[in-house]
Amino acid sequence: MHSPLSAGEALVRAGVDVAAVRRQLPGIEPYAVPVRIASPGFRRLWARGISAVAMPWGIYVTDEVAERMRCGAQPDRTGELLVHELTHLDQYARLGAVRHLTQYLGDYVKGRLRRLSRWDAYRAIRLEVEARDVAARFDKRRKPQ
Ligand SMILES: [Zn+2]
Repeated sequence: MHSPLSAGEALVRAGVDVAAVRRQLPGIEPYAVPVRIASPGFRRLWARGISAVAMPWGIYVTDEVAERMRCGAQPDRTGELLVHELTHLDQYARLGAVRHLTQYLGDYVKGRLRRLSRWDAYRAIRLEVEARDVAARFDKRRKPQ
């Protein structure tokens, strides 16, 4: 991935309907969102088990995810991950980066103060709950509810 792939191209490769993603996330244009491999320095800031991070200007992924996207392995898993990260970009567009960050960290700290584990506090962040819900709608491995 020398020149960055767009999230729109990556969605197509993963078999996800880009028009449906646009309807669900009207604040973003998937073809305008670059997907890049995270530098080792950036990766060191990530919690264990995290395979992608959305910034207001693009999506950063691990080498493993980039390789999966390149060779087309596990497209359903890749599609779900991309929609999850694009939901965070839609949240950035809706809330602005500062409110997104304060709400995100605020929820995490509240969870930790309620004695949740790090992982449970992360899972309970409302912006994460929303991203998981939206991604689940595009996950073909799950039965529609
Ligand atoms: Zn997330």
